[in-house]
Amino acid sequence: MKGEIFAIGTELLMGELHDTNSPYIAGELSLLGITVERVTQVGDNLKDLAESFSIALARSDYIFTTGGLGPTQDDLTREAIAVSLGEKTTVSSKLLEELEDWFKARDMKMPERNIKQAVLIPSARSIPNKMGTAPGWFIEHNEKIIVAMPGPPDEMQNIWVNEVLPLIKARIKKSVILTKTIKTLNLSEAEVAELVAIFFGIENPSLGIYAKQDGIHLRIISKAATKAEAMNLMGTVEEGIAKKLGSHIWGYDDDTPEEMAGRALADRGLTIASMESCTGGLLSSVLTDVPGSSDYFKGGLICYDVDSKLENGVPDNIISNYGAISRETALAMAKAARKKFKADIGIGVTGVAGPGKQERKPVGTVFAAISMDGKDRNFAMKLPPRRPIVKRRAVVAILIELTRVLKEPSRRPT
Ligand code: ATP
Ligand code: MG
Repeated sequence: MKGEIFAIGTELLMGELHDTNSPYIAGELSLLGITVERVTQVGDNLKDLAESFSIALARSDYIFTTGGLGPTQDDLTREAIAVSLGEKTTVSSKLLEELEDWFKARDMKMPERNIKQAVLIPSARSIPNKMGTAPGWFIEHNEKIIVAMPGPPDEMQNIWVNEVLPLIKARIKKSVILTKTIKTLNLSEAEVAELVAIFFGIENPSLGIYAKQDGIHLRIISKAATKAEAMNLMGTVEEGIAKKLGSHIWGYDDDTPEEMAGRALADRGLTIASMESCTGGLLSSVLTDVPGSSDYFKGGLICYDVDSKLENGVPDNIISNYGAISRETALAMAKAARKKFKADIGIGVTGVAGPGKQERKPVGTVFAAISMDGKDRNFAMKLPPRRPIVKRRAVVAILIELTRVLKEPSRRPT
């Protein structure tokens, strides 16, 4: 099943408005097994719109539009759809009454120009819009579906979830669609793509690759007549990917690094504390995003300059011998945090967030350490040299490494 999306409005073409509706719809369609082949932005021009819809009708099964359903002269989506289908618009008395009621409920008289929002064509049914005056259209025409939705994202999403999605699901309910996201770290998008290349290009299950803050994600979508068949299809590809990517996989679906680390800490009944330099408190912030983190997170220090590191227990000779940005200092910070907060585990992180070099180390160099139970671990990272990315990626990598360490059987206290 092929779909295409139109974001309608001259504002979009003038760079004044950023199209957020299309990505939302595209994401939803992929979960339904509808392949989005095109996303188009078209201005408020009747001829351009009608032409675009006619072309789309010839090649796609589903067409989704947002915008241009308002009462003003430049809102032309309905008119253009009517032209492309060769149908005539007529005012629906039921819709008109509903519109008039909408204004009455707000002690307003309906302006004449709003009448155009009450029109229908024979193959369209109206989609109620509880958040605004512009109802959508759901059109079935020669086995093709056109869905016209209002432009404001909250109205569009409300209509999507409550009205459009059930109608589309009912049409395609014959098949079961399963999705699974596999989350990896420490490999570039190109490396992941190369490792799993043999699974791309298969239509079912289909595989997508996405670069995210917490690494490269792969999403498998499998479609079949029954759940068992869909799971079977999914399983084969999932296993194949797991073999190729091995320990680079850190989680699945809704897993987040902070939740996984939190769960691992809670499972083992261990507490943690941190001393952060280049991440500026982000590690503490992210750890405490998880409800219940007070059970395991004892506290964090942000020791940004050298003096504050020294004052909080990092030995002078470590910094003078190895530099503030070093494996050794990261480990000393981890130990100092652990001691200061009487925690089972200490985390230290120091690095160059940029934009300039420090201690002749390039931007993106980060050293982190985990100190626990006499078994210390430190590691170096080379991250993309952009400040927010360095901070976020360093935190993600630390949390994932922490989870790994906590799950290693040999590290269980006896
Ligand atoms: P209205 O009745 O509000 O006029 P409409 O369906 O006519 O609804 P438009 O006039 O095209 O919608 O757009 C109204 C507003 O909705 C825009 O000013 C913009 O804020 C938002 N909007 C429209 N299209 C998009 C889009 N593709 N992405 C994000 N926001 C959008
Ligand atoms: Mg409008």
